[in-house]
Amino acid sequence: MPVCIRCGREVETLVDGRLCPSCYVEVRGLGEAPEELRLTVCPRCGSYRFQGEWMPPPPGGLEDVVAMLFQARFRPHPEVTHYRVEEVVLEKSYDGDYALIRVVGGLRGVEGEHEALYRVRLRVAHQLCPACFRRASGAPTAIVQIRGTGGRLGEDERRMVEEVISSLGSGIAESVISVDEVREGIDIKMMDQHAARTLASKLRSSLAAAVKESHKLIGQRRDGRRVYRLTLSVRLPFFSEGSLVSYRGRLARVEEIARGYVLVRPLGGERLHRLRVEDAWRLLEEPRYEDEADVVVAAVEPGWIHLQETGGAYRYLELRRSEVTVEGEPRVGKNARLIRHNGRYYLLA
Ligand SMILES: [Zn+2]
Ligand SMILES: [Zn+2]
Repeated sequence: MPVCIRCGREVETLVDGRLCPSCYVEVRGLGEAPEELRLTVCPRCGSYRFQGEWMPPPPGGLEDVVAMLFQARFRPHPEVTHYRVEEVVLEKSYDGDYALIRVVGGLRGVEGEHEALYRVRLRVAHQLCPACFRRASGAPTAIVQIRGTGGRLGEDERRMVEEVISSLGSGIAESVISVDEVREGIDIKMMDQHAARTLASKLRSSLAAAVKESHKLIGQRRDGRRVYRLTLSVRLPFFSEGSLVSYRGRLARVEEIARGYVLVRPLGGERLHRLRVEDAWRLLEEPRYEDEADVVVAAVEPGWIHLQETGGAYRYLELRRSEVTVEGEPRVGKNARLIRHNGRYYLLA
């Protein structure tokens, strides 16, 4: 009888000529699963968008939608004769939503069925379907316009914004009429001004965004009351957690942004400065470097530090300890980054 090269058992059939059925499924699964699934769901009625079309809500809810999308993207191995999605469990993790998907299938020449488990990242966008949109009385009463520095929104910024939006409860999501990716950023149309303000203030407190409100008259009710549309223009700062910034003329790192405060630490020290978002906008500047180089620490002496530039230039620098702010532990032979900002050297070791 043939022997499995992995577990050494004798079996009737080796699935791919090398592995017994259980080793095969353990090592290779039943097929290639997508890394992530993106789905758009209507927060009001549960309809979902599939290949550009809106479909009515399935009886099994979101789990059914996930099963269907998964099946459409799953690529079974050639040794797999048939398979089906047996179970979908949705899981909320600190870093986002996931689906645990149990797939059951048969292997060529092997009796019975085997199962494989897949964990797939879920990216769920909420958007009103056309039917709910029509019912939602037409004109949005609030627009949240999210923009980056320089008027554009980068890929990382879009991701951060997406995370903030998905961290808000369904009360906010239910108010969203549409999320439009425009050239300059993201426009979110909402039915409820209170929900729009909640979203904007969350972007302020967790990404240090600056928020401006404006109102536009869009009509008048029968009783004479005027109807205004609220526009919240939300601008993200040039910095985010981990950025180097210029703070009172010196280089500093943004350590944390939370609850409406930006925690900044001047390089070379331990002390954190706690700035309100508005003060951070005023006090933090995008740093300009007079010089920037990858170096290796060549020698460390009591008042001096010697650096050898790497990457082409091979400059040799002898710097006084008093003219360089050291971040980290510069040991001989260690690679580091040398930055000159505002007439001062910074060594990031
Ligand atoms: Zn085996
Ligand atoms: Zn709907």
